[in-house]
Amino acid sequence: MTLYPVVLMGISLIQYGEDIMATTGEKPGKGAYYCEKCGQRVDLDDHTDTLPPCPKCAHTKYKKG
Ligand SMILES: [Zn+2]
Repeated sequence: MTLYPVVLMGISLIQYGEDIMATTGEKPGKGAYYCEKCGQRVDLDDHTDTLPPCPKCAHTKYKKG
């Protein structure tokens, strides 16, 4: 089943296909995340990495890039 890995990754991917939001403290998986407030890019290299607060403005909501 192609959907199986998506299910395993959990939480935010329910919105798959739309804007995926991630929050500080979550482990949303590999990829680029953009601060919702200032647009600062944060890269996660591993699915075990936790999203930090935005390094620029300390905001805690991100959009997946
Ligand atoms: Zn920011």
